Amino acid sequence: MKTDALIRLTNGAARLGLSLSEDHAGQMFEYLNLLGEWSRTFNLTSVTDPDEQITHHLLDSLSIRCYLAGDQIVDAGTGAGLPGVPLAIVDPARQFTLVDARAKKTRFLRQVTRTLGLENVEIVTGRLEDYRPHTRFDTVVARALAPLPRLVELTGDLLAPDGILLAMKGRDPVKETHELGEPWGVRDTHRLEVPGLRAERHVVVIVKKLT
Ligand code: SAH
Repeated sequence: MKTDALIRLTNGAARLGLSLSEDHAGQMFEYLNLLGEWSRTFNLTSVTDPDEQITHHLLDSLSIRCYLAGDQIVDAGTGAGLPGVPLAIVDPARQFTLVDARAKKTRFLRQVTRTLGLENVEIVTGRLEDYRPHTRFDTVVARALAPLPRLVELTGDLLAPDGILLAMKGRDPVKETHELGEPWGVRDTHRLEVPGLRAERHVVVIVKKLT
């Protein structure tokens, strides 16, 4: 394993308050390897530099770990598995459902779960508009899916009554938060410090207001 990369990942995770085991770090690199292999044929990610993948993909995903609530988590529009795969690796006790409309992405994700032996991950191919899960989710996470008003339209029905929606954003999306209609409200906006990432990151916590 590349030692420098391992040090950067484990130090970065530590700065996020996570003590990453050797096994989990190994799974993270295995994931990046598969992403690299598949990206040669399918365009799965625009971030291909190994250093950038650690910051933009792994650490960025892990930066919302402390805001997850409950056991049932859904990653809406997961793409190549972000933030769902890194979060599922560090949290084997939680169940993660990764949803994407594009079959080439979910085929890749099936390969990832098989190779990494991730037993806490379910993959769903389909549009969020058509997705009718058996149980609702405690937390919906979404990165780079849609502006907030569209995001609640796409994922609002997936939330349990006291569930939360964690929307990962770049700059503080003040304008988008004002465009949220009833019954949605912003509980918090947290500024994220992603180790090694020189860009503003935020997570917006959206809840359904009691009527
Ligand atoms: N979350 C990933 C991918 C972002 S790109 C990341 O941050 O890297 C947005 C992804 O959402 C794409 O993979 C696209 O296929 C998926 N997507 C967009 N609209 C969707 C919808 N209505 N239902 C399901 N998936 C959708």
